[in-house]
Amino acid sequence: MKTRLIFVAAMLMYVAILSAQTRVVAHRGYWKTEGSAQNSITALMKADQVQAWGSELDILQTADGVLVVNHDATIGENKILIEDANYADIKDIKLSNGETLPTLKEYMKAFKKCRHTRLILEIKQHTTDEKMQRATRAVVEMVKKMKIGKRVEYISFMPVICDEVLKCDPSAKVAYLSNKLTPAQCKERGYTGVDFHYSIFQLRPHWVKECHDLGLEVNCWTVNSDAALRQMIELGVDIITTDVPERAAELIKEYESKK
Ligand code: MG
Repeated sequence: MKTRLIFVAAMLMYVAILSAQTRVVAHRGYWKTEGSAQNSITALMKADQVQAWGSELDILQTADGVLVVNHDATIGENKILIEDANYADIKDIKLSNGETLPTLKEYMKAFKKCRHTRLILEIKQHTTDEKMQRATRAVVEMVKKMKIGKRVEYISFMPVICDEVLKCDPSAKVAYLSNKLTPAQCKERGYTGVDFHYSIFQLRPHWVKECHDLGLEVNCWTVNSDAALRQMIELGVDIITTDVPERAAELIKEYESKK
């Protein structure tokens, strides 16, 4: 009886994966819109307004331990290396939309007001494993404190970061961003998904099925042209990360209506 129930549950999950609609993640928030900027709190709120399934952001940690939301390792006209700076040295830097550089804490507080989107937290490369592990522990700790664990997922180009996330929270959803590991290797390390550049799936379209057979979720970045968006939707990826979330949603709708 128990075996049969497990079999039925597995089949239902398989059918759900097969028929699930592709979801959209706004890359660095929805920034290609009036008044917004990459990795700004405005971009997060705009991603929520257009009901993007997820809103991605980039995280780095200062020397004195403050987590900030920024893509590049350096910031400002003087190209200050964030991991070597104290927060006081960079806290007044403005984004292109006039917003002040957000801390992760401020970003998460704003996120608590969001009704639709979830956070896709990219923890960026720092110069040493120790720094990356310290930053990762601090991010996971903050997620726990803010009680938003069910609405966040983690991504990183660095296996050391993905591994540390799972060490801190074995139930976390973690996807690896580079194709230096194969889907099977990602699965072995306990990751729940892959998040590869879409050209990888153009070269190896069979990896989508391979990932699904392994029980891995498939995300791809950063898909912006109509042609590439259509291609990824037709390939059956689970998630598309894009700078044009509204257009991606339109094309998914179009594809679904023709099914
Ligand atoms: Mg990113």
